[in-house]
Amino acid sequence: MMKPFHSLALLGITSFLLTTCDIAYAQINFRNLDLNKVFKTAQDAKDATAEISEQNEILIGQEIASNLLGLAPLVNDQKTQEYVNRVGRWLALQTERPDLPWAFAVLDSDEVNAFAAPGGFIVITKGLLSHMRNEAELAGVLAHEIVHVLKKHHLNATKKAGGMNLAKDLVSIGIDAKGGNPAFLKLASAGTELYTRGLDKGDEFEADRLAVVIAARAGYEPFGLPTVLQAIQAMNAKDENLSLMFETHPPVSDRLSMLEKVMTSSFDRFENQADLSSRFIATLYPPAPQVPAKKSAPEKKTKNNSAAKEKN
Ligand SMILES: [Zn+2]
Repeated sequence: MMKPFHSLALLGITSFLLTTCDIAYAQINFRNLDLNKVFKTAQDAKDATAEISEQNEILIGQEIASNLLGLAPLVNDQKTQEYVNRVGRWLALQTERPDLPWAFAVLDSDEVNAFAAPGGFIVITKGLLSHMRNEAELAGVLAHEIVHVLKKHHLNATKKAGGMNLAKDLVSIGIDAKGGNPAFLKLASAGTELYTRGLDKGDEFEADRLAVVIAARAGYEPFGLPTVLQAIQAMNAKDENLSLMFETHPPVSDRLSMLEKVMTSSFDRFENQADLSSRFIATLYPPAPQVPAKKSAPEKKTKNNSAAKEKN
């Protein structure tokens, strides 16, 4: 049995809601992002490996998240948003960084994708959600994104790609740096640009590998992530809703064979953990409310009716 959710205070998706109101883009299209060209050639290993404070990590993440959220409206259903937040927060509590301001949001886009921004901001599309059948699958996908945050994959990639000046800015930028500070905005757009190029393959494999561990630790049947990947594999590869995910991730077949190698017999003992399909379906696809049957209208005389009468 899965442990019940901790009673969590309602989450900080208000900031998400604020940033996305009045925006009505139908599709996420990162190619439309007008990003500063910040990737210069300078590299400085010493600066690039300096530690970024958690405060700055969150600050950068907030800005990146608002860029991501500006690309499509949120799914206009509070129950869906709260549910995905509960699942995500429960997973995050099992990790080494439970105290980040974790927040999860579902974008109203048919594109099949999910993104994580530094500091604990995670978005998943309605398109991806629609390919899932139970909570264990949702948990697998969210856990993959959670690992990107835990391991600071985007943050480190931004440092690596941005070179010396960007790395220095990342380390030194202050809490009051928001609000038009060019260095801050440059960092945020450098971070955002990563979403069009993707992370290193190794980071993606690490996210898959640790995601199944987090899902198992949280009490879920851990094969949710590979099952979603199989569902994606079964889709038409030319489906344009998959193009960005395919461009920014290793081939699904590689991810599946890596997971197969990792998920050896040691995972068998988790096999009977909950997949919570009934809660998933009841929350996301509740049955339409029963409307009392109207009195039937008087039968219209049609050819068929009269034929049936004749038979009787
Ligand atoms: Zn990923």
